[in-house]
Amino acid sequence: MFEDDGYALETLAVRAGQSRSAEGEHAEPIYTTSSYVFPSAAEAAARFSGDSPGNVYSRYTNPTVRMFEERIAALEGGEAAVATSSGMAAILSLCMATLKSGDKVICSRSVFGTTTALFTRYMVKFGVKVSFVELTDFQAWQDALDGDTKLLFMETPSNPLCEVADIRAMADLAHSAGAQLVVDNCFCTPALQRPLDLGADIVVHSATKFLDGQGRCLGGVVVGKQELMDEVVIFLRTCGPSLSPFNAWVFLKGLETLSLRMRAHCTSALDIAWWLNEHVQVEKVNYVGLPSHPNHQLAAAQQSGFGAVFSFTVPGGREAAWKVVDACKIFSVTANLGDAKSTIVHPATTTHGRLSDEDKEKAGITENLIRVSVGLENVEDLKADLARGLSALV
Ligand SMILES: *Cc1c(COP(=O)(O)O)cnc(C)c1O
Repeated sequence: MFEDDGYALETLAVRAGQSRSAEGEHAEPIYTTSSYVFPSAAEAAARFSGDSPGNVYSRYTNPTVRMFEERIAALEGGEAAVATSSGMAAILSLCMATLKSGDKVICSRSVFGTTTALFTRYMVKFGVKVSFVELTDFQAWQDALDGDTKLLFMETPSNPLCEVADIRAMADLAHSAGAQLVVDNCFCTPALQRPLDLGADIVVHSATKFLDGQGRCLGGVVVGKQELMDEVVIFLRTCGPSLSPFNAWVFLKGLETLSLRMRAHCTSALDIAWWLNEHVQVEKVNYVGLPSHPNHQLAAAQQSGFGAVFSFTVPGGREAAWKVVDACKIFSVTANLGDAKSTIVHPATTTHGRLSDEDKEKAGITENLIRVSVGLENVEDLKADLARGLSALV
């Protein structure tokens, strides 16, 4: 087993969590087994009762999945991590492990749409109260907080406007009421932001995005205190949204290049954001890496990079935005993000299409807004791709 002696993130991303079998394999093996053989009836009994820590069944634990969990826990600086079959399964598992009828969740208005749906369609059905507030309106979080509040849930930076909340202040606020702060760290990854170091209690991820990095597999992970992760594992055992060992192996390979990829994503995104900012056919660029963004200073203090995802507006409405999207030959028109392949999407008619006009306006999702996730292609090629669409607006 690899000993974590306080190594840097790049080292942990390649090494942490790996255990080798007696075969001495160099790379992490994929343990495609549903169940495990016990050396004796007594050991079988001890495994089932929990007195012995070994494997029982891959719905509970699997060696390849465990390597991924331990690597993520090391990268986020958490006591333990539990992997799940998708990002949504991670959020669901966390809710099931922490919430009961009568509890309250306060959630940022600008979180992943399906996260909002999980709370409003399902959690409320079981008597959980949910309030939605503006990510950067600290007073609103404070006003919504009460004795029933168990979780404060947010994504920072937000999608697609790149708004940033002060994680330390939010954690202090949560703790003042005995609640826990959950940060969906999907957009930054631990390579750019470590919420637990800033006082957050729980980190969740869609591993589907930057942790994989090449758009191959679905997966998720919850990170936090051992005691809480034990509860999350019980939910997986009972209800089953466990991560497949093959997907865990893909993520382990993805993590080896996480830091290199995130640095490249950030460098290209900043370059393209500056270039768009100067472009005559662009009205406004919402990228927290630009000093003009209202949360730039906070992001610079809290993150070690500004990320790959941002949005911009063009003069005109939906027609103009669609023209730019359709002119792209490199950027893929898809709602996915965090891929080596750059993506472009029109939020008002896709990711945020189900919001009412009023909610769209509140969330800043205008008809002329375009979101990009900058990939790993050559940055000049990417600019030329966007330039083609923008020139069509003249
Ligand atoms: C994609 C995404 C999710 C959901 O993850 P899945 O793996 O698609 O289930 C949750 N949060 C954020 C921020 C995401 O981008």
